[in-house]
Amino acid sequence: MTVPNLARLLLRSARAHPRLPAVALGGRVLHDYAGLASRVERLAGALVRRLGLAPGGRVALVMKNSPAYVELLFACWHAGLAAVPINAKLHPKELAFIFEDTGARVCFASADLSEGVAAAGADLAFLIDPDTAQYAGLLAADPLPVAECSERDIAWLFYTSGTTGRPKGVMLTHRNLLAMTLNYFSDVDRIAAGDAIVHAAPMSHGSGLYLLPHVAAGACSVIPDSGGFDAAEALELMGAFRGATMFAAPTMVKRLAAQAERCGAPEGLKTIVYGGGPMYVEDLRRAMAVFGCRLAQIYGQGESPMTISALSKALHADTGHPRHEARLASVGLPVTGVEVRIAGDRDQALAEGEVGEVLVRGDSVMAGYLNDPEASAETLRGGWLHTGDLGSLDEEGFLTLKDRSKDVIISGGSNIYPREVEEVLLAHPGVLEAAVIGARDPEWGESVMAFVVTRAGAQVTEADLDALCLARIARFKRPKRYRFLAQLPKNETGKVLKTELRKRL
Ligand code: AMP
Repeated sequence: MTVPNLARLLLRSARAHPRLPAVALGGRVLHDYAGLASRVERLAGALVRRLGLAPGGRVALVMKNSPAYVELLFACWHAGLAAVPINAKLHPKELAFIFEDTGARVCFASADLSEGVAAAGADLAFLIDPDTAQYAGLLAADPLPVAECSERDIAWLFYTSGTTGRPKGVMLTHRNLLAMTLNYFSDVDRIAAGDAIVHAAPMSHGSGLYLLPHVAAGACSVIPDSGGFDAAEALELMGAFRGATMFAAPTMVKRLAAQAERCGAPEGLKTIVYGGGPMYVEDLRRAMAVFGCRLAQIYGQGESPMTISALSKALHADTGHPRHEARLASVGLPVTGVEVRIAGDRDQALAEGEVGEVLVRGDSVMAGYLNDPEASAETLRGGWLHTGDLGSLDEEGFLTLKDRSKDVIISGGSNIYPREVEEVLLAHPGVLEAAVIGARDPEWGESVMAFVVTRAGAQVTEADLDALCLARIARFKRPKRYRFLAQLPKNETGKVLKTELRKRL
């Protein structure tokens, strides 16, 4: 079966809104939609005719967020190639693995990152810096007609952030990403032509996916001058454009809220979409106090990107609802057309309210892992994506996540969900961040251990935190030990590395 090539989303916007801004660097618009589409058609021509890539070929992108990111992604799709966006902060060893796994022989890397690519020892035919004359030369190629796509064609090889084990290459097809794009409109937010998205989160991960609905709707992609996340810069940019959206991991939302408390929320801000990790209710309330009801949440994973469940702005705003508090602690409702069920350890269906693994079925679910049929079969067994996340569905169909199954602490035979304990610790005004893990315990199997980062100048003792836990949760869930840290170890997308904390014990 043929499916529409994702590049057609851009071509459609270029016909409908040729003069609307498509790409901006800082406050400066670089290309309108007609200009962007023309660059993409030419780049696609160069990828095929000058760099010799054949349909299905892989193109590695090792860059911070940049205007070139936008056109290169679309050029790959336009030419029927698979883009391999690689996190700019990876270690050369991890890069080496990805190059070998994908067999990519063409790589676009900015000057500051090409040393890392060289250190990875990849067997590349072309390593091109988008800021050079060589790249400008590619834009002089003859335009290529858009490639036809079948439903199995890979658009994006998405390397999972690897909080455990080696990274896996998630194969996302044109069809997967088209479903994801439509779900943004049906369940997350509407986008008007002329709106904007500020790409402050990595485009190799979350923010790059958000490019799709925004291009489909004719909104402008705004790249911060810094090429990454700086709370003051991001807020300033959202003030400079109208109808601005930003995708932010929960840690970024926290920093945006702290900054907005000092200098106000920008008027042009339309939506902050958060997700990618747990948002604690205390942090959400603080963000809602400054940004009002301009927050929406998504829950997804590389294997079903951005598209498992969503908590819309309207649900955030429905403060009078008797279950508002529980809804804020949830990840919302399964998105339209995607099925979610909760399963026990033999994949049996569990009843409403029971905690089990979250399984997902729908058009956004990946085709499998590259070069790993065993892991693909295991993760997709029975036709359902096994997310590795634990959660429960309530009577209204809202999904609440507990933890990753591997993070659950089993102490004296009882399950303890770290997230629940972390929520309590974060309710202390002096606690900035908290992470709870299971430490080996000769008597209980595992015992609860908390790592805590306090706010500057705050005096917080173990006794204070113990008293707080005693007041709010069952005794057996209280941390037996505390360790105070200056900061929590995090990966490049801001997720706390519990594996790292375990190593420190
Ligand atoms: P990744 O594949 O790197 O995007 O990581 C996906 C994982 O992040 C999911 O399996 C969840 O464990 C976690 N995650 C994503 N979105 C949320 C959310 N809204 N709330 C809690 N955890 C989330």
